[in-house]
Amino acid sequence: MADGGGFDPGRRRVLFGRRRAERPALRPPWARAHDFTDLCTRCGACEAACAETIIVKGDGGFPTVDFRRGECTFCGACADACPQPIFDRTTRAWTAAPAVGRGCLTRAGVICQTCRDICPENAFSFVLVPHAAPRPVLDATRCTGCGACVSACPGEAITMEVRHGA
Ligand code: SF4
Ligand code: SF4
Ligand code: SF4
Repeated sequence: MADGGGFDPGRRRVLFGRRRAERPALRPPWARAHDFTDLCTRCGACEAACAETIIVKGDGGFPTVDFRRGECTFCGACADACPQPIFDRTTRAWTAAPAVGRGCLTRAGVICQTCRDICPENAFSFVLVPHAAPRPVLDATRCTGCGACVSACPGEAITMEVRHGA
């Protein structure tokens, strides 16, 4: 009963808005996503092996990648260190791509092209916008998912999003 001492979750949603759907965790490159938490023992070997220190403990102690700490060099050390049958290096390394959010400085009229300058694959281009600063557009076919653009973005506007079906 909602009017008693407890708080009705449905009412909470009405009052405070529906919670955003949880984003799928970003796993290390070449890791199988669908049964990752079944196979991973949380031993930390991949985390310890990553020279870029972008693998961190996420929810439940399972490894996740934090591109705010740096980029992936695709060295493969995480995959080599893992004792479990989790990594498949015959597949594409990442099922994630960058998304530019509303914090992009160009939306505030600032001329910024840092993401284009940092990207080793030239995956970003800029489109002209009338009476505004040119805005970044990603060519996902060029992007390798290295994440270099994430930590470089001065607006902290870029996040890596796991692609649907990953
Ligand atoms: S491939 Fe190398 S840099 Fe990338 S997450 Fe694995 S250990 Fe880190
Ligand atoms: S680096 Fe960040 S703030 Fe600058 S244009 Fe790219 S997304 Fe926008
Ligand atoms: S993730 Fe890497 S390849 Fe993809 S757009 Fe960012 S810097 Fe370029």
